[in-house]
Amino acid sequence: MPASNTKPAAPHVTNFIRNIIDADLAKGAYATQTWGGRPGPAKVHAGAPPDPAKIRTRFPPEPNGYLHYGHAKSICLNFGLARDYGGVCHMRFDDTNPEKEEQEYVDSILDAVRWLGFDWNFNGADNLYYASDYFDFMYEAAEYLIGAGHVYVDRQSAEEMRANRGTLTEAGTNSPWRDRAAAESLRDFREMRDGRHADGSMVLRAKIDMASPNINLRDPAIYRIKRATHHRTGDKWCIYPMYTYAHPIEDALERVTHSICTLEFEDQRPFYDWLLERLAEGGVLARPLPQQIEFARLNLTYTLLSKRKLIELVADKYVDGWDDPRMPTLAGARRRGFTPEGLRLFADRIGVAKADSWIDMSVLEDCMREDLNGRAERRIAVLDPVRLVIDNYPDGKQEECFAPNHPQKPALGKRAMPFSNELWIEREDFMETPSTGYFRLYPGGKVRLRYGFVVECTGCEKNSQGNVTIVHCQYDPATKSGTPGADKVKVKGNIHWVSAQHAYQSEVRLYDRLFKSPHPGAAARDYRQDLNPDSRKVITAQLEPALKNARPEERFQFERHGYFVADRIASKAGAPIFNRAITLRDSWSKPG
Ligand code: ATP
Ligand code: MG
Repeated sequence: MPASNTKPAAPHVTNFIRNIIDADLAKGAYATQTWGGRPGPAKVHAGAPPDPAKIRTRFPPEPNGYLHYGHAKSICLNFGLARDYGGVCHMRFDDTNPEKEEQEYVDSILDAVRWLGFDWNFNGADNLYYASDYFDFMYEAAEYLIGAGHVYVDRQSAEEMRANRGTLTEAGTNSPWRDRAAAESLRDFREMRDGRHADGSMVLRAKIDMASPNINLRDPAIYRIKRATHHRTGDKWCIYPMYTYAHPIEDALERVTHSICTLEFEDQRPFYDWLLERLAEGGVLARPLPQQIEFARLNLTYTLLSKRKLIELVADKYVDGWDDPRMPTLAGARRRGFTPEGLRLFADRIGVAKADSWIDMSVLEDCMREDLNGRAERRIAVLDPVRLVIDNYPDGKQEECFAPNHPQKPALGKRAMPFSNELWIEREDFMETPSTGYFRLYPGGKVRLRYGFVVECTGCEKNSQGNVTIVHCQYDPATKSGTPGADKVKVKGNIHWVSAQHAYQSEVRLYDRLFKSPHPGAAARDYRQDLNPDSRKVITAQLEPALKNARPEERFQFERHGYFVADRIASKAGAPIFNRAITLRDSWSKPG
């Protein structure tokens, strides 16, 4: 059974992670791995059947915000590897920090991963896990480590610990509590658990090397006292494991083979290995042990990929919530009209590397254009309408013109668009005094009304402010598109239109990049100063009647304008509201 329902977007270019996995599989690194049917310590997997999954990866978000494009890279990588190697990717909530975690975030994360096209089922088993389910084991493992003399309870204050840690150039100083008897540490640790001590008054620390050049190995804290209600375990615990202690254990319990994380964890890898070795040599955790592999996180221009800052944008109402179509969240991308396929194409295209770099927003946007171009049916929308009156077209008459739903996919058929003597056209498709090279409507000029007739402009009417209110023209009945001899009259311009009496008038939101600067907040600026004031324009547009029936989340190309989606939240039945996902061409690239 597949680990997900996606196919690779393109034949895979290999990368350093695939090379590691290939080499591991070639040497049978996991040939002895068993799977006891659920995550657990050595005893759960001892004597169990061979692991049916060739590899196990995991996607381990902390449920403290909505997922963003950076997470999409990690999701596509982890779930994609599992899919390609006959393995499984576990969906795991890394919920060991009680303070900022909420059920709303859990739900939104599951939605987003599914929307991207992945699932965590393997051989009929649902691999959805919560790190908090392992709190009991983590506690037992800590007691084991105390007994084995690998960890100790330190009663130094936070300031003392900081002062004794040393610096990058100077070794740290051993804690006076470092060499106490295991029984004393055990008594203290149990008292910590039982709520007998104040928050921050003591910590459990690994006993490694206060002189290590890697500061992460200078007796890192692994458990702290924190009175906080956890979103799943409530008030059961007043001590919580540190991330650096919890994460390797979570991986090992789940028999993860390749634990892929971002580069900032590189310096933690020696501790990851140290901890798992200690627990495996004690027979607590099963071998083979997981290995941590780091890759470069996604950095994307014109946006922010930091949950903390995204939370601020929401809380301070710079956007209308986490799923505002301008947000770089997956919930925002979905409302914006971006596609999961386009995001997966993006992840494939940017690949994975071992060194940090910046990806330009246009790469993501081009992936969306590419994907939407293939899948979105064409429709006509007049976004800045002005009336066109065809003076020689009989009043009250109407007929149908036929427009292809997709120029490259004739199988998608054609639809009828009603034509009459009063149409809406784009204001910019008429100029009273044409500039050179202007081939659209101007007095005396001729254009083809796309899928309709050739018309010749005869003049215009204006209001007291001098704005054009009506453009007048005459049509040539012998030029109807699709009829014999229709192209006898040659014209250079070709404009779109909607019949005024049949049009569906609706709200359309024109979204653009949320930030106007490629590196929001660079050079010590407040990133809020870089918000793009034109990131959303709300207009009233005249749309072809077929669009009235658009279903929520149905995506279209509005010819000449871009890709649009019927908003999944704001649309009412029979009254869709449209969001612009992306324009047809990049308007941001600098000339030259
Ligand atoms: P943020 O920095 O936005 O708070 P995070 O790293 O704290 O994100 P987690 O919930 O811990 O968020 O992330 C879950 C997974 O997603 C981790 O494995 C992390 O490495 C990965 N991830 C997060 N941001 C990025 C990114 N920009 N590029 C690639 N992977 C990312
Ligand atoms: Mg994190």
